[in-house]
Amino acid sequence: MHLRRRVLVTGGAGFLGSHLCERLLKRGDDVLCVDNFYTGAKDNIAHLLANPRFDLLRHDVTFPLYVEVDEIYNLACPASPVHYQYDPIQTTKTSVHGAINMLGLAKRVKAKILQASTSEIYGDPEVHPQTESYRGNVNPIGSRACYDEGKRCAETLFFDYHRQGKLRIRVARIFNTYGPRMHPNDGRVVSNFIVQALQKKPITLFGDGRQTRSFCYVDDLIDGLIRLMDAPDTITGPVNLGNPTELTIRQLAETVIELTRSSSRIVRRPLPADDPMQRCPNIALAKKALRWKPRVPLEDGLKRTIAYFRDRLAR
Ligand code: NAD
Ligand code: UDP
Repeated sequence: MHLRRRVLVTGGAGFLGSHLCERLLKRGDDVLCVDNFYTGAKDNIAHLLANPRFDLLRHDVTFPLYVEVDEIYNLACPASPVHYQYDPIQTTKTSVHGAINMLGLAKRVKAKILQASTSEIYGDPEVHPQTESYRGNVNPIGSRACYDEGKRCAETLFFDYHRQGKLRIRVARIFNTYGPRMHPNDGRVVSNFIVQALQKKPITLFGDGRQTRSFCYVDDLIDGLIRLMDAPDTITGPVNLGNPTELTIRQLAETVIELTRSSSRIVRRPLPADDPMQRCPNIALAKKALRWKPRVPLEDGLKRTIAYFRDRLAR
């Protein structure tokens, strides 16, 4: 008999979480979405509410949770620098207490558990592109530390529960991901530039725009997360998931202006503290262990994201 998987997605009403819930439901899983709506929105999952295999629970992961599940994807945590720096203490609590609570739950019900970690683990990297063996260059007392160190500590907890409690863990280090359902006020660069371009407002380039990032389209990333969860238990990660096509932030601004045919001009704003100068994943491990690689080129992904924002801003 095929047993239906009961899957918990924390942060399921957020950008990545809502896409993940949708994909899991599509393949026949039962999904419990847990979210406190800090940066997520009911709108993101409104289309799933009528599905009898979908449940929604408003809950803050910094408090314990008792539910029966087979798999846990732990995504709860604000991801945009603007939002995670708004209440930095809560951000660290969400990463650290959230990880402790979800690992405790996984241990109790013998569930497999995946952590949405981040390329921020590498800080402002001196190794380029970043491999999983690189230990990073993080400022532990800077304005990004609440997020970076919170996520680093969560990784520590995952591996200690694995070694000590024999938990089945997966750790994904996610690099910049973009796509439909990012919030227009999310504050991250792709949504900022697209919304500014569509509204014919100035494009806010931080610093000289020579800093680099590598952007992965959401569908590719979700595919990677599910492959990692489904992989044999020996594959714990950490494993980088991202698109290795690197570009400068100025190039991104110019591409968005071109694709939206916008009359917006680029204006310079100060570079935020500790803003990493370069970031690009080495995805050799994901390619080998998960047989995964991103498929959606930046221009295609941007076009789909622009279409989403055009529609959303018109509403
Ligand atoms: P998001 O802000 O859209 O989603 C985060 C979700 O977590 C939101 O729905 C929010 O309401 C919820 N949340 C926050 N604190 C919570 C708490 N205490 N209890 C319950 N729910 C809480 O961000 P996202 O881009 O979807 O990111 C999802 C995860 O992936 C995060 O853990 C993030 O760190 C990680 N990640 C994302 C990226 C990216 O580029 N999108 C890159 C690296 C890592
Ligand atoms: N950035 C920018 N203008 C914006 C928002 C961000 O130039 O309106 C820059 C930011 O300084 C960083 C890059 O874009 O160098 C990516 O920023 P984001 O907040 O999306 O994510 P990060 O990778 O820094 O966490």
